[in-house]
Amino acid sequence: MDVVIRNANLADGQHGVDVAIEQGRIAAVGPRLPLQAAQEIDAAGDLLTAPFVDAHFHMDATLSYGLPRVNASGTLLEGIALWGELKPHLTQQALIERALQYCDWAVARGLLAIRSHVDICDDRLLAVEALLEVKRLVAPYLDLQLVAFPQDGVLRAPNALINLKRAIAMGVDVVGGIPHFERTMAEGAESVRILCEYAADQGLMVDMHCDESDDPLSRHIETLAYQSNRLGLHGRVAGSHLTSMHSMDNYYVSKLLPLIREAGVAAIANPLINITLQGRHDSYPKRRGMTRVPELLAAGIPVAFGHDCVMDPWYSLGSGDMLEVAHMGLHVAQMTGQDAMRECFRAVTATPAAILGLEGYGVAPGCHADLVLLDAADPVEAIRLRAARRLVMRRGKIIAESPRAHARLDLPGRPEHVNFRLGR
Ligand SMILES: [Zn+2]
Repeated sequence: MDVVIRNANLADGQHGVDVAIEQGRIAAVGPRLPLQAAQEIDAAGDLLTAPFVDAHFHMDATLSYGLPRVNASGTLLEGIALWGELKPHLTQQALIERALQYCDWAVARGLLAIRSHVDICDDRLLAVEALLEVKRLVAPYLDLQLVAFPQDGVLRAPNALINLKRAIAMGVDVVGGIPHFERTMAEGAESVRILCEYAADQGLMVDMHCDESDDPLSRHIETLAYQSNRLGLHGRVAGSHLTSMHSMDNYYVSKLLPLIREAGVAAIANPLINITLQGRHDSYPKRRGMTRVPELLAAGIPVAFGHDCVMDPWYSLGSGDMLEVAHMGLHVAQMTGQDAMRECFRAVTATPAAILGLEGYGVAPGCHADLVLLDAADPVEAIRLRAARRLVMRRGKIIAESPRAHARLDLPGRPEHVNFRLGR
């Protein structure tokens, strides 16, 4: 064996497990494996997990905060306007450099797979070219999946459908959309039909920004589910945001959830962004705006949490830490039950891995030896502490390490120094 990791806890609740690795894949998982390895790692009862996965991100905009100016109001609409001001000034090289810097942050946080939307409304497709280059450069250590995203509306913006098809022909993986941003509800529904038919024809996955609105009558998720079902796209379609569902009438939602389930459509909530951008037209009481995560899960619909933005026109914070995303999702959705908290951990690991269709993901024999060892005993503690990533492994090789979170106190009136692991 090349590597054996001893005495780890797994996210499914197993304790004291050894994981053996050979030629970049997991060869065996079990208690006290009787084998020798070139490298032995003592997990010491910490949580060993498959990597974090971000199902929803915008890598063409990331780390552009302050270019050409900051979002003074902090609103979604000023963010979209600001992105429009920035686009003509983007250079390919600067975009690649910012994306690569973000990927470094991601790897350090154990985030090894990202689905990023890329805006295709610019006829030059400069961001598409740049992110395809980034995808090639990071492939040895990070899976980057790209979505052709018509930010200004596939029907509303000139050439957007042509550009979207050009982007797919260049190698972009997934068909995107933004029906609530089209000029009318009818055009929004039409955009969903056109894009889903195109995806079905091309054998592609679909991931739309869908109903990122507080308008309870924004019901494009209904159309997305209908078209997915009609075209047989089960398991290949995701609805991102779905924030209008927060404001919908309960009776209507009781009809909607089974339709989403029937169509095999997954949901992607973006807790950090939804809680900051939605409810802005409200006085009080003020809506939270995140979609109905526990209710979607109870209906058998997979729900992932995405980061969406880090230091860009829409959001001035963020660090690539999917535990911060899970932490916010848990709070906003009030998912404080024991199973619900563990589900929040799955929403940034196994669930988005399935939505992206990642091959060989997991902690089981035959899976890629892509692993993260956390400074925490279990998924709930990992979320509580936003635990340090003791090590991050890709194909059996350590690619990032961080020290445990540790404090040494020297307090007046206390004769001895106090040493402890933070929060544990
Ligand atoms: Zn987004």
